Parts: sequence; structure tokens; C-alpha cells
Amino acid sequence: MHTAKRQSGYQFDPSGGALCLDFANTVSHRHLPQRRAEHLGSYADLVAFADQSRLLPPKLAASLRARANRDHAGARSAFRKSIVLRESPYRAFSAIAAGRHVPPADVQQINDFALVALQHRKLAQRDGDYRWEWQSNGSDLLDRILWPVAKSAAELLTSEARAAIRECGAPDCEWLFLDHSRNRSRRWCDMKSCGNRQKARRHYQRAHA
Ligand SMILES: [Zn+2]
Repeated sequence: MHTAKRQSGYQFDPSGGALCLDFANTVSHRHLPQRRAEHLGSYADLVAFADQSRLLPPKLAASLRARANRDHAGARSAFRKSIVLRESPYRAFSAIAAGRHVPPADVQQINDFALVALQHRKLAQRDGDYRWEWQSNGSDLLDRILWPVAKSAAELLTSEARAAIRECGAPDCEWLFLDHSRNRSRRWCDMKSCGNRQKARRHYQRAHA
């Protein structure tokens, strides 16, 4: 879904099939300066994305919001990092979708974010159950949203699912998704928006040929 302008209450589109791809898709019409729509304009938008993607317990989302309100410099810094963490994987996965090699600088960037994320992994034991959790030392809590996104990017880059990465077939869209359709024939990021638009366009062109 591509709303024309960024607005509060934007519903992020989870059609990517991987967290890092949904995150890459938080800007629409990236390559069209006139129509580019940024859905991540502030740290608050980042929390909204994390909240809607169920990356965080609701309580933690609320405390991240409160913290960002107290620590503007910290929130700005975490937000700036999040945009780097969006654009580097975008370039990497867009290259893979086009059958090209990933630029080494982007591999390095994903590596660097993933290593920081790994330092915040903690094996937790609760009620006889064991699981990986994310642990902040307190001072880096505002970066908490970046860690699962970085992990997702590094995992997708190193997994066989990489072969299923596609870039939307609409010429004005560059959203990425995993094509898990049975015959690997999915062409659009979202059938409701891009798919129907492209069909209508082809229909119009045939009718007026
Ligand atoms: Zn699309």
C-alpha cells in the first residue's frame, strides 16, 4: 500500500515476507524525487513500525517512546542509524533480486550492524523454558529496534531464501518481497495496490492501442 504522503497513523505494509524487507519498504517511490514518500520520519515512526511488526512487547514500545521524549539526541542518533540500516540492506537485496553481486560496502555494513546486535543476545531461562532475548545495557535501549532488523538482514543474506528475493514489477515501485508462490511467479509487492494498478495500465494500453 503506497500512501502518497507520510502521515501519522500510517499502516506499515508487512508484505515483504521478512522483517528486513518490510523495513526496506518503509519508503515508497525511493527513486522518484517527486513522489517519494517517507514513512520513517522520526524515532516515533520507528517505534510505530516496531509496534505494528510486533517486534516489541507493548510495554517496551511505551518506554521507548517516553525515553525518546527525554533523550532527543539519543533518539536522533538511533533514528539516523536506522536509516543506514534500511538503505544498506535495500541496496543489497535489490542487487540480489536483479541477479547482481551485493556491493562489498553493504555486506560490511550489514555485518557491522549484525555484530552489534549479537552482543545483545542473551539466553534466558524462564519457567523451565529457554529462549533468546534481546538485552540492553540501559544506555543503548533506544537502539533496541535495530537489533532484530539487523539479525533479519544478516540471516536473509546468508540463507537460501535469498534466491526468492524479488523487487516489485511495477516501474514506479521498488519494494522488495520474498516470492514463496508455488511456481515462483509473484510479480507485485502487493496485489491490491501495485498488481491492480499494473493490470489496469495494461488494459488501458491494449484498449487504446
Ligand atoms: Zn509494488
